[in-house]
Amino acid sequence: MQVFKFGGASVKDAASVRNVSTIIRREPARKLVVVVSAMGKTTNALEELTWAYLRRDEEAQQRFWQQVRNYHESIMQELAAGEQGLDFGSVYDSFAAVEAILEDEPDANPDLVYDQLVSFGEVISTQIVNAYLNATGLDSIWVDARRLIRTDNSFREGNVRWDRTCTFIEQTLLDLLHGSVVITQGFVGGTTHGETTTLGREGSDYSAAIFAHCLNAKGVTIWKDVPGVLNADPKWFDETVLIEQLSYQDAIELAYYGATVIHPKTIKPLQNKNIPLWVRSFVNPDARGTVIGPFTDHLRVPSFIFKMDQMLISLHPRDFSFIAEDNLSRIFGVFADMGVRINLMQNTAISFSVSIDNKPDKVPALLERLKEDFRVTYNEGLELITIRYYDEATIDRVLTGKRMLLEQKSRYTVQLVVKNL
Ligand code: ASP
Ligand code: MG
Repeated sequence: MQVFKFGGASVKDAASVRNVSTIIRREPARKLVVVVSAMGKTTNALEELTWAYLRRDEEAQQRFWQQVRNYHESIMQELAAGEQGLDFGSVYDSFAAVEAILEDEPDANPDLVYDQLVSFGEVISTQIVNAYLNATGLDSIWVDARRLIRTDNSFREGNVRWDRTCTFIEQTLLDLLHGSVVITQGFVGGTTHGETTTLGREGSDYSAAIFAHCLNAKGVTIWKDVPGVLNADPKWFDETVLIEQLSYQDAIELAYYGATVIHPKTIKPLQNKNIPLWVRSFVNPDARGTVIGPFTDHLRVPSFIFKMDQMLISLHPRDFSFIAEDNLSRIFGVFADMGVRINLMQNTAISFSVSIDNKPDKVPALLERLKEDFRVTYNEGLELITIRYYDEATIDRVLTGKRMLLEQKSRYTVQLVVKNL
């Protein structure tokens, strides 16, 4: 059996839903688990709804919820206009479930609230896709991933309990897969107590990998609006090259350094079972795209990853001590406590520098904490450029018109923190 994953852009309107149906029907064996994300930008809208609900801003709450509801209703209307017998009853049940939450006082844990509300993006999109497939004569079954993917109660960042998850997935899906295509949600899971959790933003790829791992799938295909994995994001680079074949190791490295094409947690569960991952275009489903698998050869082209809006922070111990184990452990403790990810770090005898995403909700508090123990200097408005399989020419190329503040090289990877001149 195979796992297909469709992201938000692939189900953003009625025409896209029809295209997804066409792609599913092309698969001859139809032993498919289809993992679908929330439609279009629904997750962002549901986040706004959650913030409004948490701050008890009823006007904004009403506005954001109407926006989400209307968006889905217009997609359903358009699908219904072209097809008889669409049953969207379950979608209206989901609307009612969201409205019931919004009528109550919010729970004290905002992250729990977030997961209960934001997860409906995936629930609703899969209900719509499933209704459409059924009405157009494809035998598909809607399965609730909140009951299959078991996580701990780290809301918004659920940690998968693999044993239970695989048991539930096998017990529920193995039989169903004989006759029908299974439609389920990305991004969502649930705790032992039946509360919904989510796996972190963009986590639907990871969900697809979880299903594939537990079911020993023959392969996973992530259908995207790009032709496959490119050696750079076309947003920042004119001449990109499609990578046809990529090793798990390179894919993990690229995702780790910030290539957004695949969620970083996706590869490991597949690698452990040697399951290949295809990244293909839903716009051009005949093209082969990229295959990620147990290959040993290195990428033949350098890959470029750009992280914008970086902040380079340098810490200097106030007591003129050296940067050694005790200082480092205090520094890492602060970053871990504050939930700030370090994109790059470098130390000298008397200073320690890190590059981080300049997030307004995290950085001011982080700086306050660091200033308790260190003299802190920083630079904003920077870019972090990572080149995997670099050579000097590629470095010169990305440095044109930029000043370099920091450089770090390992055998295959160079990272540069730069400022526009
Ligand atoms: N809908 C979720 C998000 O936008 C999960 C995903 O798309 O992968 O983050
Ligand atoms: Mg997405």
